[in-house]
Amino acid sequence: MDAKKKCALLVRNGYVITMDDDATIYEHGAVAVGENGRILEVGDDAEISARYDPGREIDAQGAPVHPGFVECHLHASYHLFRGVLPDQLVESESFDTFEGHFYNTVNDEEEYLSVLLACMELVRNGSTCFMEAGTILTPEMAARAAREVGVRAILGDAFIWDQPQGFAQGKTDAAEDGCLTCAAQAKLHTELRRAPKTRAEALASLGTELQRNSDPDALVTGHVAVLGLGTASEELMMEAKACADAASVTLNIHQSYSPADTEADRKRFGKDPLVHLFETGFLDRNVTFGHANHLTDAECEALLDRGTSIAWAPAASMMWGHGSSLHGRHAELWRRGANIALGSDSPNWSNDFDLWRQANLAVMAARDVHMDRTFLIAEDGLYMATRGGARAVGLEKQVGSLDAGKRADIVIHTLDRPEMVPSTNMIRNLFYASRSKSVHTVIIDGRVILEEGRFTKLDERAIYAEVRKASQSLLSRMGHTVEANSVPRMRRPA
Ligand SMILES: [Zn+2]
Repeated sequence: MDAKKKCALLVRNGYVITMDDDATIYEHGAVAVGENGRILEVGDDAEISARYDPGREIDAQGAPVHPGFVECHLHASYHLFRGVLPDQLVESESFDTFEGHFYNTVNDEEEYLSVLLACMELVRNGSTCFMEAGTILTPEMAARAAREVGVRAILGDAFIWDQPQGFAQGKTDAAEDGCLTCAAQAKLHTELRRAPKTRAEALASLGTELQRNSDPDALVTGHVAVLGLGTASEELMMEAKACADAASVTLNIHQSYSPADTEADRKRFGKDPLVHLFETGFLDRNVTFGHANHLTDAECEALLDRGTSIAWAPAASMMWGHGSSLHGRHAELWRRGANIALGSDSPNWSNDFDLWRQANLAVMAARDVHMDRTFLIAEDGLYMATRGGARAVGLEKQVGSLDAGKRADIVIHTLDRPEMVPSTNMIRNLFYASRSKSVHTVIIDGRVILEEGRFTKLDERAIYAEVRKASQSLLSRMGHTVEANSVPRMRRPA
């Protein structure tokens, strides 16, 4: 008999959902991981364990094991003000009344702490990789936090824009769009002191984060993020596209989020935004749109033709009432072969970084609006969170499935949760009942980051205490008093 091969780590006795091309599930499966943090082999437990002599063995005790989720649309530095924006705040005021002041007050240490908490939350909920939306003033703070937690991060340069008249509202000039509120807000907009003001300034920082990609094994890498929603001139968008193409990375941009910014884009391009971007060559396989809640038939065809990805953020749309479930084309595009990934957006837009919740909401919303139980099923949500995400961030050869040669980004659940009992059908119990609640152990790049629900190398309580203190300090320096929800109709007649 041949001698056993060495491996660094062996995950045994798992219900292994590989998410490979054949959607293979090993009901009694094992995953062998090499010293280099890559998967050596996935298969039946009896066969794999007979072949390998592991440095360390983890017994999954029959619980689900799946590839780590890939978070494709999020703002990682807003955690110090999670939940601060009250329900009565209208979105068009969120930038001028809050976020502008936040950016002019926040310091590097606070960005670091915020991203540190965001990374911990992602991992705790089963995500092992995230692509940030290019809204961290000092990306190195995010890189430091991601490395400390041990999570895979894909960062972009901050605020690649050249007409920052308030983002998320698509504010255009008043005479043209006749929106007095928009015009007033555009005049009042807060200048972000540390963000680029002109195209020249934006171009000077564009591509800086790509220097991280010189190390092919780096946990923290760079991509090209453009804020979008009318804040970038077409010239800047095309420069950014060329930069992403030259570096073979994803170009990540907010697009067609609300009816207002979609309409503003339609006005400036003279046609449906995605049709215009199709014609100019911007629309491509390496482009990922955050949100894309409002698309016409012609735009859907353009997107399908070019293989462009969408990071669907269902909770963010539900939170602010943008109609992605009712008017979005995500589920339909997915069924027609488009790549749909998922995103949590930010801690006032969804307000948790939990891709299990996003996947569940996406599937449920699609069924409800189409009045069809089979319109999307649990496996569709799992695919969006894994393979869909991996492709949307440009790492489809590295992560997204448990395949030999890929990075060992592995999530192990536990069956010791009421929601996981009885285990009649593992996928349905996982997707509809337990979701992230049963996440137990998380491995990233072959390293055990979370074990039995606790971080292996972080003092969680000390970090939480520090974040609480930093949040109070930041809000008080901003002069911000946190308001309660005060919608008048809540005072019901007796
Ligand atoms: Zn966003």
